[in-house]
Amino acid sequence: VQERKNVMKYTPMIQQYLAIKAQYKDAFLFFRLGDFYELFFEDALTASRELEITLTGREGGGEERIPMCGVPHHSVDTYIAQLIEKGYKVAICEQVEDPKQAKGVVRREVTRVITPGTVMEGKLLQDKENNYLLSALMCNAAFALAACDISTGEFHVTEVPTQSQLFDEIMQYRPSELVLLTGEETLEDEELSEQLALYSIVVTKRSVDMDMKEDTQAGFAALFSDVKCGRESTPAMLAASRGLLSYLKETQKRSLDHLHRVNLYEAAAFMVLDQFTRRNLELVETIREKSKKGSLLWLLDQTVTAMGGRLLRRWIDKPLLSKAEIERRQEAVQALLDGWLARDELRTSLKEVYDLERLAGRIAYGTASPRDLVQLKSSLQSIPMLKRTLRELAGSSEALRDVAGRLDHCPDIINMIDTGIVDDPPIVIKEGGLIKEGYHDYLDKLRTASREGKQWIAGLEQQERQVTGIRSLKVGYNKVFGYYIEVTKANLAALPEGRYERKQTLANAERFITPELKEKEALILEAEEKRSELEYQLFVEIRERIAHQVKRLQTLAVQVATVDVLQSFATVAQDNRYVKPEILVDGPLVIRDGRHPVVEAVLRGEPFVPNDTELGTEQQILLITGPNMAGKSTYMRQVALIVIMAQIGSFVPAEFVQVTPVDRIFTRIGAADDLVGGQSTFMVEMKEIEVTLSNAGERSLVIIDELGRGTSTSEGMSIAQAVIEYLHNDIGCKTLVSTHYHELSHLEATLDRLKNFHMAVNETEDNVIFLRKLVHGPADKSYGIYCAQIAGLPSRIIERANQLLDEYEGAVAREVVSEDGELHRLKENAPVAEPQITLVREPVSVGAVEVVEEVEQLNLFGEPV
Ligand code: ADP
Repeated sequence: VQERKNVMKYTPMIQQYLAIKAQYKDAFLFFRLGDFYELFFEDALTASRELEITLTGREGGGEERIPMCGVPHHSVDTYIAQLIEKGYKVAICEQVEDPKQAKGVVRREVTRVITPGTVMEGKLLQDKENNYLLSALMCNAAFALAACDISTGEFHVTEVPTQSQLFDEIMQYRPSELVLLTGEETLEDEELSEQLALYSIVVTKRSVDMDMKEDTQAGFAALFSDVKCGRESTPAMLAASRGLLSYLKETQKRSLDHLHRVNLYEAAAFMVLDQFTRRNLELVETIREKSKKGSLLWLLDQTVTAMGGRLLRRWIDKPLLSKAEIERRQEAVQALLDGWLARDELRTSLKEVYDLERLAGRIAYGTASPRDLVQLKSSLQSIPMLKRTLRELAGSSEALRDVAGRLDHCPDIINMIDTGIVDDPPIVIKEGGLIKEGYHDYLDKLRTASREGKQWIAGLEQQERQVTGIRSLKVGYNKVFGYYIEVTKANLAALPEGRYERKQTLANAERFITPELKEKEALILEAEEKRSELEYQLFVEIRERIAHQVKRLQTLAVQVATVDVLQSFATVAQDNRYVKPEILVDGPLVIRDGRHPVVEAVLRGEPFVPNDTELGTEQQILLITGPNMAGKSTYMRQVALIVIMAQIGSFVPAEFVQVTPVDRIFTRIGAADDLVGGQSTFMVEMKEIEVTLSNAGERSLVIIDELGRGTSTSEGMSIAQAVIEYLHNDIGCKTLVSTHYHELSHLEATLDRLKNFHMAVNETEDNVIFLRKLVHGPADKSYGIYCAQIAGLPSRIIERANQLLDEYEGAVAREVVSEDGELHRLKENAPVAEPQITLVREPVSVGAVEVVEEVEQLNLFGEPV
């Protein structure tokens, strides 16, 4: 009651505002008032701050003035964009009746809610990035997720068994917004919301009806006309989709016909990459600058179209597991690589293709402009050429031949646009000039009428000059008075009486009209107004007719995008001398002369030193020691990147590669500093290790850099040894571990499938040269003090440190216990600190084999007696 009283004191318009605002509490309400969108109360206070616009006030019936701020309607997009970018939502409230006809307050309605995940406007969308809106829900202890990009029309759905997998899956999409759905069960949403907030994902909560007995297949068929089933549908998946669609309906309030195809997929059908690994491997952005430049995506992106750019990202997000599917892509890349001359032509044709996916989206959505249609036309017109080139190139690739055969350049749509829309339409769409002559009879008549009227007016000047004898008489036009006849003051006397009506006085001229002129003007204006209206109608009609064909455009878009990504792989492979990896069903990972694709590309001057890798049943774990800066982490990342590149169908930086598809890659690498607020680096690292140990399987690839750092030496070494033993004995996954505890190399003696390696260095009297070459055997020391020396620490400190090191290392135990409880004694007179191997003093150019042999003959540290 109190609240009602509070509301009643306001003017009817403010009451209307409050009633609407109550339904859109979590959004800024942009309330249309004439030529402005106004914000009131709290919204005004926040918006004036966020948008840096002036806060004013307005009398509204209450005791105090109501805070208010506003933005002009023609520039509203910029302001909306700013708010959306900051993670806010905006509800657009329009006047839905003509103010002249309204009795009382003009009727207003919210016509659309724009949220970070439902943006359609070009300004807010990145060309080469999807903008995903997700929904997630828990049901029967399973977790379902639906993902949609309304700007392109994609819709994906899956279900995973754990909340942590749900999180990984969510992060693959890097959504801008997530709808957390509550059915009968609730997700542990506190934790999830917290995690999502870290990545600035806007979370919205909604409830959804769950019907467990429902026929899910029929349910999906009712929601989408095209259901692509990579797996069986479940009630949770259906509810997640329904929840997402209903949120879209609630906010968009218009046709979502372009969301007609859903893709039900099995998350486990692709390589799983958790959030840490994506970051660590810098797949789509670098850790430090968070920029695309320097990432794997950046390196591989030679796509020409925006759709291709987005698809490449999706491929990197979801590497394949199936040998057949990988090989299909490889075959196509090979064909495109072989036909490099024609590939240039292909790239040229692709450049002609605009963003078909988003054009199709805007057409279905009813927001496409005449310029969009012209872009669509020219895109479609370039398809036949593309098709010809592709046919020529396809060669032995069945997949490419298939795509080439099916490319549909939609001649009917080209025709619709070509006959109707002018070639260079204006930006403003309600003032005519959009429709071609000869398209519509009545429109042509209106055109003729206005043209004739204008011709008459054009002739009027001459005619009036003759009648009056005033040579300087002019006929002109302005927006306020319309057409007029202008006579200078000096000539006024020459004007005949009665015929002219004075309209406006200027400093040295007078402006007149005549009844005849007014009549013609009315005719012209009427014809022009009708013409603009009719042109707009005809344009909308054409747009709607194309909207019915949107599926064909979307199919074409996917095909073009695929060709684009494949040619990008071919281009990158050629530019960087990559080879086609052989895909095995089961077996080892073999890399000969592998290179780090990104480091290689950015190294200037210095050549990149290639290295070999072999991981399999005999050699499952490589334990890599060596000083800092020797190239350990570069080497380990290089292995992971080569595997990922192979599994997305790309060629790889090496001389020869065999890859057995890996189901997951786990990494624990370097700088996790800015990751989780408040937690120690050590804790974060232990969590990453925990995730690895509890999820890795035989077919996984595990990469751990500097295992055991961040705590005391003895603890660190103990943890490291225990983890390595577990990976070796219990999981059996392919593993690369680096550590600065060179003492751990004794593990080679007790773990059959573990092999010691180190990064070779060339040590002289007062200098260490990094050879970047991976060689058998452990490193003899960690060179930490040497690094301190290069860093410029005073020589007194360096000397003292060396002295202390001798003392400490002398005290380290000479016995180690292997997991089976056996005691292994270190060589009696082998002082731990004293290196027993001579360093490899070979220049970089020495082949790996020779280096390896030389090291193998040495008396290695840590051999059991
Ligand atoms: P670590 O992990 O052993 O401390 P990094 O892998 O970070 O060493 O390598 C240090 C630097 O050495 C890198 O920044 C890179 O530029 C360079 N580097 C690493 N590996 C190679 C290589 N194989 N060839 C040429 N330069 C390399």
